[in-house]
Amino acid sequence: MKKKYLFTPGPTPLPPQIQEALSRPIIHHRTTEYQEIFSEVNEGLRYLFQTENPVFTFASSGTGAMEGAVVNLTREGEKALAIVGGKFGERWQEILEAFGRECIPLEVEWGTAPSAEEVEKLLTEHPEIEVIFATLCETSTGTKTDIEALSSLARRKNKILVVDAISGLGAMELRTDEWGIDVVVAGSQKGMMLPPGLAFLSISERAWNKVMDNQVKAYYWDFKKMRKSYEKNDTPFTPAVSLVVALRESLSLIKEEGIENVWKRYSLMAYATREACQELGLEIFSRSPAEAVTAVKVPSGIDGGNLFRLMKDKLGIQAAGGQAQLKGKILRIAHMGYMDYMDIFLVISGLETALSIMGYPLEKGKGISKVAEIFVKEGVFS
Ligand SMILES: *Cc1c(COP(=O)(O)O)cnc(C)c1O
Repeated sequence: MKKKYLFTPGPTPLPPQIQEALSRPIIHHRTTEYQEIFSEVNEGLRYLFQTENPVFTFASSGTGAMEGAVVNLTREGEKALAIVGGKFGERWQEILEAFGRECIPLEVEWGTAPSAEEVEKLLTEHPEIEVIFATLCETSTGTKTDIEALSSLARRKNKILVVDAISGLGAMELRTDEWGIDVVVAGSQKGMMLPPGLAFLSISERAWNKVMDNQVKAYYWDFKKMRKSYEKNDTPFTPAVSLVVALRESLSLIKEEGIENVWKRYSLMAYATREACQELGLEIFSRSPAEAVTAVKVPSGIDGGNLFRLMKDKLGIQAAGGQAQLKGKILRIAHMGYMDYMDIFLVISGLETALSIMGYPLEKGKGISKVAEIFVKEGVFS
């Protein structure tokens, strides 16, 4: 027998309550039974997103809702700003270009986040820009962007801010209404403790007015259709019933713990991971590290691919490697979904063990001692 441990930034492990909900017999969606669930889910989503705005639920992966945001919120030929500092920022640019929008990319070095000043400068150079596309947690580099600062800039400049929070939501602080974010996109398989298959999008009144003015060339992704149904507590097409039923359990777990406590838990787990890695002599890749995923540099003399495979095949611990230019150079450890403090001991001791098998010089136990020290000091076990 070999146990497997998932530390990838999506999909993430599922709590037993959710696995149980997923195994229930399916119900029909045009019933009061389903409508009650859907209405409860919508309330829970507004809590998770920290918004009074509508939150749409689509049967799709997260990218679907990103595409929906581009198609509904911009016109053909329109200039839009996208912050590009990794694979997912690139995705905003690729979607914009696929639909004939003119993307003005703000290219930032991978592993760094843009400052509001850099964004403002580009907005001044291109005053026609109406919409800014950003990423809360750039999962490919483990980097956090200061969305609060961007949002306040967007308010001041009267621009619409769209945030890809697919990996961040549920693991990282995000206050949609308080910060004034217009559109937040999320997906089920990252911080929401669910399997892949649902995408979410919250939309402010300001952004909605732009959708209403737009001649949207879409059918499934037509937000006007979505909103009409949403207001009747319904969806225009068949919802992913089983996932929505499981979502109710996820949202109730989040509500029970309290969103602030959830953010605190992941933030402490990420902090302990970073400190433990540094204790082992490893370097954190990002200069603005996210709480949802830690990217640690593979030390010189160690083959990143071999480290990843040794952890996965021999230890049963699946983290994620680097993508594109970071392939073989970083290891990404997720802190999202169904994860708790003890999981950090597991992944750090796995990393220590794998590195020492590979001949990397380290003092065994130093990483997990650091984790224990931090958690005890923070009162995690009291
Ligand atoms: C995973 C991820 C996506 C893509 O989501 P899919 O569900 O695979 O379509 C987009 N953006 C970020 C930041 C992600 O982490």
